[in-house]
Amino acid sequence: MSNLYDIKKIRSDFPQLTIKLKKNPLIYLDSAATTLKPKEVIDKLSDLYLFKTANIHRAAHELSQNLSTDYETARENVANFINAKQNEVIFTKGTTESINFVAQSYAKYFSKGSEIIISSLEHHSNILPWQNIAKEYGLVLKFIKCLPSGELDFNHFTSLISKKTKLLALTICSNALGIINPVKDYINVAKKNKIKILLDAAQSISSNITDVKKLDADFLVFSGHKIFAPTGIGVLWVKENLLETLKPYQVGGGMISSVDKNSYALACAPYRFEAGTPPIVQAISLGHALNYVKNIGLQNIHDYEKSLLTALDEGLSKIDGVKIIGPLKSRVNICSFTVEGVHSSDIGQLLSVQGICVRTGNHCAQPLVVEELGINTGLTRISLSIYNNLEEVVACVDSVKKCLEMLR
Ligand code: PMP
Repeated sequence: MSNLYDIKKIRSDFPQLTIKLKKNPLIYLDSAATTLKPKEVIDKLSDLYLFKTANIHRAAHELSQNLSTDYETARENVANFINAKQNEVIFTKGTTESINFVAQSYAKYFSKGSEIIISSLEHHSNILPWQNIAKEYGLVLKFIKCLPSGELDFNHFTSLISKKTKLLALTICSNALGIINPVKDYINVAKKNKIKILLDAAQSISSNITDVKKLDADFLVFSGHKIFAPTGIGVLWVKENLLETLKPYQVGGGMISSVDKNSYALACAPYRFEAGTPPIVQAISLGHALNYVKNIGLQNIHDYEKSLLTALDEGLSKIDGVKIIGPLKSRVNICSFTVEGVHSSDIGQLLSVQGICVRTGNHCAQPLVVEELGINTGLTRISLSIYNNLEEVVACVDSVKKCLEMLR
């Protein structure tokens, strides 16, 4: 394990780790659903609400000006974190809103019969918006199949491409299995075929370096709550050359340069895409959370989480009947497994009694879990984050073993 990684200090940054569940110390292994929040981010958030409340971009008074500056600094923090330009960063309320935004705003450029490719690994948030616009505009939605390992079948992707393909919407990391897709290979092929690309970074943002310049996609989305920030804030990154063509999907205050009784003129990007009072405090807190991550270092985080995952995989694979889905080499911080004859929700409930939080079921990825992998018992998903330690991994493996002895 990395010597650079001060796990004791990091754990002390997260007060929630000190609580007990049913008299057991909390072991939080559900960070893929949402991460815990560091005290310094929450302290800054409460300081904003207690002493700095104002609305932004509107008033001449000092409080408003200060908060407007903080909000734009948060945008700068996000831009730096993903190596983007500031005007390419649009604040939304989360990944789901960001994808719906692109689907609603961009679909008008597709003609009837145009094709969208997504993968079988996608979260429902990266499926339903495309199903909706496919129905509304007469588009064709195609799914890249998985291999038996759970990894995507690249050859199947290339076979799906036709002259009518307009968009590829692909997750960087599967929230259900933790598999990281080799997205650059997909992007290279898509570019050659003039296909626009949307990347879902919701699950990868907290442990993999995201560099939109290197990736060279057209849209990238993620949520703040998966990277130590509050809920209610997300990001839609749009490549600069598309900002002018993209239509705001909602309109209102704060996004115009002028309005008369019949019409309005839009403000420049990104403000034209942020109608109404934005989630000001949440956006500023996201900026602080990203600084927190930067101080630890994403490569350190990646290496640390991978070392925990390796130990977790090793422990679980020794338990009779446990089947881990997806090769270890393709995953960083998620281990999902099935046990023959045992429903995942029974495992989840028994672990919960011991203070261990994991997620069970279909993980908002029903087409993957049920249709593609044919799993009817749900998956037990253990997801790791920066604050987990080896003792927790060992305790979890031990508890899974005991649960299964009780259930079989
Ligand atoms: N995509 C992926 C890969 C996710 O993991 C999630 C959250 N589980 C989402 C999309 C949706 O994110 P949100 O609920 O924050 O909008």
